[in-house]
Amino acid sequence: MPDLLARLVELEADIHYKTPPPAGERDFGYAFGRLPILLSAPHGAAHQRNGRLKAEDDFTAGMVRLVAEQTGAHVLYLRFQSSVDANFDTSVPYKQFLAGIVRRYRIRFVIDVHGAAAYRDFGLALGTLNSASCPHERALILSVLGQHGVREGGPWLRRLDLDDTFSAVGVAGQETITRFVSQRLRVPAAQLEINAHLRVPRRQPDASERDPFRGDPAGIKRTLEMLAALVRALVRFRKP
Ligand SMILES: [Zn+2]
Repeated sequence: MPDLLARLVELEADIHYKTPPPAGERDFGYAFGRLPILLSAPHGAAHQRNGRLKAEDDFTAGMVRLVAEQTGAHVLYLRFQSSVDANFDTSVPYKQFLAGIVRRYRIRFVIDVHGAAAYRDFGLALGTLNSASCPHERALILSVLGQHGVREGGPWLRRLDLDDTFSAVGVAGQETITRFVSQRLRVPAAQLEINAHLRVPRRQPDASERDPFRGDPAGIKRTLEMLAALVRALVRFRKP
């Protein structure tokens, strides 16, 4: 396994999918960054939506931590099983903490990373509230994805689903992170759903999914490089 993926597995080992936080501890983790970009993985561990336990988006926490380590972005991720869903509920600690980081460090863009199931007919799904969450940056994001071989009309894992299956609009009563950041904090944001084949080197022992699964090492590496390139491009970006 290449070093990059070994490090990914190492970082993911610190995520406790099905264990609530120890008494007095937060269910999320945060690491400071020197760049004004925030990577977020609010489903890094299992979480409850409307009282029902939902499986973790495994390796999203590990991926954003690794990309933050490489680029110097800030990173916020769910580390323990949560009694709420930060990508659904309003006024939860994860969102309050996120808002604090955005204000204190003048964050210019938030990338909210999620996991899509292996059976999905796309490699990546970009959600921008149909462009409203990042009107100025959307073209830049599409160009970075394209440079890494992911575009609309591409074959399966190279196919980009654009504001279709996961637009970040959400269902009635849902406040996605992308909506919260762009509409309440007035900072541009986008949601990125990553197919399991491009995200999971091998399923962890405490994963909710019991079937053994191994993603595509080259595809995972390419996706990590794409995320790092996205962070760097967004730092350089200036509004037209
Ligand atoms: Zn998710």
